Amino acid sequence: MKTIGVLGGMSWESSLEWYRLANERVRALRGGHHSARILLDSLDFADIEAMQAHDDWDAAAGLLAARAQALQTAGAELLVLATNTMHLVADRIAAAVDIPFLHIADATAAAVTDAGLGRVGLLGTAFTMERPFYAAHLAAHGIETLVPEADDRRVVHAVIYDELVHGIIRDESRRRYVEVIDRLIARGVGGVILGCTEIELLVSAADTSVPVFPTTALHVEAAVAAAMAPTR
Ligand code: GLU
Repeated sequence: MKTIGVLGGMSWESSLEWYRLANERVRALRGGHHSARILLDSLDFADIEAMQAHDDWDAAAGLLAARAQALQTAGAELLVLATNTMHLVADRIAAAVDIPFLHIADATAAAVTDAGLGRVGLLGTAFTMERPFYAAHLAAHGIETLVPEADDRRVVHAVIYDELVHGIIRDESRRRYVEVIDRLIARGVGGVILGCTEIELLVSAADTSVPVFPTTALHVEAAVAAAMAPTR
């Protein structure tokens, strides 16, 4: 089994979930006392959040590329970035290392396609919903995305930064997310991507009438499959 290098801490609430799911997945697949081989570099989210707020994506890319190289040097054999938003600088990170980089939107796109869907809603941070990088990546897989209207986008973003990254899970916020999802369904989507790694801590398939695509869980599945694939 290969060692997975994880760039995490964005936020640690979702990295914890990433770590737990990866170990559960390996245990389910291999049984016995097996667990995932993981090198986790958990960044200080305050640094990342400040770079986002100042639109300093160049600094963020430089920091994440350096940490990716450190994971490779430490022995990581494949690399993941455990946040959707910071995939805005995925190209710079992937180019900084020689090990495979598993893009979170590739894992998500595969699940959407497997479900037979071509048009889905996208929830995430304002960066993920409003900048072109994420939708463009999905479009390259033939997937069309719809994002909520402006007021709903503000709600979705605020709940992430004011609650979920602090570990605050509120029924009222879940209800508001479900309303946002219902408005996307009314606009014709057949499923919804939970395109922020904390959202699946709040919303699950049981809350919605259409399939949801939890990006943390899907990313874990792809990474564990790659780590367990036989080496040639
Ligand atoms: N974890 C979140 C995501 O998947 C948001 C936090 C961040 O900005 O990295 O987009």
